[in-house]
Amino acid sequence: MPSVARSVPVTPPQQAGEIPAISLRGVRKEFPGGIVAVHDLDLDIAEGEFVTLLGPSGSGKTTVLRLIAGFEQPTAGMVLLRSRDVTAAPPFDRDVHTVFQDYALFPHLSVLRNVEYPLRIAKVPRAERRERALAALATVRLEALEDRSPAALSGGQRQRVALARALVNRPAVLLLDEPLGALDLKLREQMQIELKEIQRTSGITFVFVTHDQDEALTLADRTIVFSEGRVEQAGSAQEVYERPASAFVAGFVGTSNVLAGAVAVAVLGRDGSWSIRPEKITVTAADHAAPAGWTTAVGVVEELVYTGATTRCVVALEAGGVLSALLLNGGADDLPTFARGQDVRLSWRPEHEIHLM
Ligand code: ADP
Ligand code: MG
Repeated sequence: MPSVARSVPVTPPQQAGEIPAISLRGVRKEFPGGIVAVHDLDLDIAEGEFVTLLGPSGSGKTTVLRLIAGFEQPTAGMVLLRSRDVTAAPPFDRDVHTVFQDYALFPHLSVLRNVEYPLRIAKVPRAERRERALAALATVRLEALEDRSPAALSGGQRQRVALARALVNRPAVLLLDEPLGALDLKLREQMQIELKEIQRTSGITFVFVTHDQDEALTLADRTIVFSEGRVEQAGSAQEVYERPASAFVAGFVGTSNVLAGAVAVAVLGRDGSWSIRPEKITVTAADHAAPAGWTTAVGVVEELVYTGATTRCVVALEAGGVLSALLLNGGADDLPTFARGQDVRLSWRPEHEIHLM
C-alpha cells in the first residue's frame, strides 16, 4: 500500500502554551533535479525532549537535521529556535550542535584539547576552558583519558569524545545523525543507555536520527517516522508500535503482519488493511478451540526461526495471507513443539487488530 500524502502538524504532547525548542513551519526542501527531500513539514520539538527521526535511507532525515542546523536553507517555510526565526541565520548563529556518524577529532590534539576546542574558538579563558572540558569528559566517563591521543582510543571512546566536545558548549539543542552507526551492537546498546542518561541529566533537547527501529524506540520520548520526506507518524514508542498509523509504519517498526482486502474479509469479517503484532498471536494445534471471543484462523507452519529467547513461527493461512507469531521459549516444560508443515490455529484478541489508514 503506498504511503498516504498528507501533512500532519506534529506537536509534542502536554506542551501546549510552552515555547518549543525547535519549530519547523511548512518547511520544504527541493534539490536540483526535482528531488523533494522534505515536503511541507510542520514539526514542534519541546524543550528538553528526546526525539528520534526514524526512517529508511533517503527518507529525508539528514536533510531535516541540516535544515535545523543551518547547513541547508529551506526552499519554503520557516525554522524557529525558541520562537526566534533563524531561517536565514548561518550555522554558527544557532544555539545547536551537530554530531555526525563520521565525527572528526583532531588527530594531533589530545582528548582534552579536542574537547576544549569549541571553547578556544569562543575565547573562553584557559582555566575555565579546562574545567568545563574536564566536566564534559566526566559526563561521558572519559576524564581519565584526557591526555591520550585519539589514535589510542577505541571507536566507542572516540565517539564519546565527540559527544563531550558537543556538550562542552552547553548547546540548547544537540542534533545527532546516526552517531552510533559505526559501533558494534554491544557498544551501541551501551552508548544508547549512556546517551539517554546524559540527555536526562543535562536537559538538552536531543534530535537523534536513526534508521534502526529498536534504537529509535529505546531512546526517544517521541519518535517521528519518516517516509519519502513526509511524517508518517509521531508518537511515543508504545504508540508507534502498538498503534501504527499506516501500513508503512506497521512494516517499518516491527513485523508488519498485514491482513488486507479479501483476506481481511475472510479472517476478520471486514474489509480494509489490518495489522496484528506477532507477540499478540497464540499458536495451538489446529483442532484446539480458540478462547471465546477471540479471532481465529487456521493455516500451515511455513517456517520456524529459533532466535534464543523466542521462536518466530510463520504461518500460511488457509484463507490466504501469511502471519508471523512469536513464541516465547519460556522453559523446557512448556516449549511449544510445532513442526514445519503442521496444521495450526492462530488466535488473538480482537482489540489487537490495528486498523491501518
Ligand atoms: P536520509 O538521511 O533519510 O537517508 P537524506 O536527507 O540524506 O535522507 O536524503 C533525502 C533525499 O534527498 C534523497 O533522495 C537524497 O538523495 C536527496 N539529497 C540529499 N542531499 C542532497 C543534495 N545535496 N543534492 C541532491 N539531492 C540530495
Ligand atoms: Mg542520513
